[in-house]
Amino acid sequence: MTVSHTSLSRLGDAARAFLERRRGLYIDGAWEDLEARIEVLDPSTGEVFATVPRAGAAEIDRAVRAARVAFDDGPWRSMSPADRGKLVWRLGDLVEQHADELAELEALDNGKPVTDARWGDVAFCHELLRYMAGWSTKITGETIPLSSPSAFHAYTLREPVGVCGQIVPWNFSLMMAIWKVAPALAAGCTIILKPAEQTPLTVLRLAELVEQAGFPKGVFNVVTGLGEEAGAALAAHPLVDKVAFTGSTEVGKKILRAAEGNLKKVSLELGGKSPMIVLDDADLERTIPAVASGIFHNMGQTCTAGTRLYVHAKVADAILKGLAEHAGALKIGPGLDPDTQIGPLVSQEQFDKVMGHIAAGQAQGARLLCGGGRRGERGYFVEPTILTHTTPDMTVVREEIFGPVLVVATFDDHGLDEVIRQANDSIYGLAASVYTRDVSRAHLIAARLKAGTVGVNTHHVVDPALPFGGFKQSGWGREMGWSAIELYTELKSVGVALT
Ligand code: ADP
Repeated sequence: MTVSHTSLSRLGDAARAFLERRRGLYIDGAWEDLEARIEVLDPSTGEVFATVPRAGAAEIDRAVRAARVAFDDGPWRSMSPADRGKLVWRLGDLVEQHADELAELEALDNGKPVTDARWGDVAFCHELLRYMAGWSTKITGETIPLSSPSAFHAYTLREPVGVCGQIVPWNFSLMMAIWKVAPALAAGCTIILKPAEQTPLTVLRLAELVEQAGFPKGVFNVVTGLGEEAGAALAAHPLVDKVAFTGSTEVGKKILRAAEGNLKKVSLELGGKSPMIVLDDADLERTIPAVASGIFHNMGQTCTAGTRLYVHAKVADAILKGLAEHAGALKIGPGLDPDTQIGPLVSQEQFDKVMGHIAAGQAQGARLLCGGGRRGERGYFVEPTILTHTTPDMTVVREEIFGPVLVVATFDDHGLDEVIRQANDSIYGLAASVYTRDVSRAHLIAARLKAGTVGVNTHHVVDPALPFGGFKQSGWGREMGWSAIELYTELKSVGVALT
């Protein structure tokens, strides 16, 4: 295995020790080796530094059968909610104890700034595990007074949905996994988790922590592999009761078709093209960094990224000047450098796609305010980029770019209705934000935006307790909070005839 010297020297001992181990599949509480491998690249150099198993339908089948037995017959099913909650909490503790190591592995694998990985991704993971651990003991039904003239005692039971296939993307590998794993475990489900082929490492490390926490065998399984192979087999498997997916809208539709066979339950968290609207009375000092973080956080590789900026003409010059300065000052470098604010994109494929969008935008008449280029000669670094003078029909305005590219249009006093119409003119509806000092206007606009989450004077609003998900083609279902428990439970009605 080769790890470039610059990267290796920045890894702590624990992360280095993990990379020294040969990584297998985690099925039925045991590690399985596999000859077929997938190469894992360091996106800051393009060098291969690790391999993981390339599982196919046979391995998925073994993992699903193990999860099936663990759900139907294992000790997990009869474990008390309190004990289940303690295990989930213990996993949260272990994630926190290994937070530096997990953050380093994520930064190396994905390219994201290690500081963001540590204090964003991984910190969110242990807090979400603890939050969901608390729900374990509070998953209740209700007593229901019936309208029937005869006497009845009727009530509902809320039961775990069963065996869950969970397929997650590369942009927040561990965090997207925990978003799904934490509520599923709290609810008493069993899991087959498939990480993205680009970023499998932190999820494999998570499996070691699950083992250490003491979950019964078969409750949590990790199978690494390609989307079209392992992912497709998992989504289609007839013994899987539910599939939960985060990724592109295009693949989300494939998941739906694959799930059709046994009509498994489906939840989807898909793409976005989220608008940010800056009104003429916005507080510029707060708005500029909020908008910059809205688009540039995680190099724009965020489903909620605020990619479309609509700014009032009165403040447009000041906002754009501030944004260009902010973008120009962001430190670009490898994810493992603690000073890095903008890392590389995850892959050559993503790099080519983003550069293609920037070129297409300019060819269609958008003007480059800043960025637009590659940084360095190797790795997949793209400068934070702002395109102005955009029109609603341009591909950069319509399509999800998934890179550090902001597209800007201005409006005037008469144009607010039209701006809201344009903001909503998208197949997506994941997030949106509005920037103003006027409380009434903020609430009125928030009510009119067709998005699952709306920020006021901030863009990325994510919390363990706050429902998260998409309108329109941005998804089905809501993660976080009680809504996530609902995604992993079935409601059963029981009616007892008393006379
Ligand atoms: P992105 O566009 O962000 O790369 P994808 O939607 O392609 O995201 O992938 C997200 C996850 O879905 C990854 O784990 C990937 O392996 C998986 N995946 C890709 N294609 C399929 C498929 N046809 N069936 C099931 N899973 C898939």
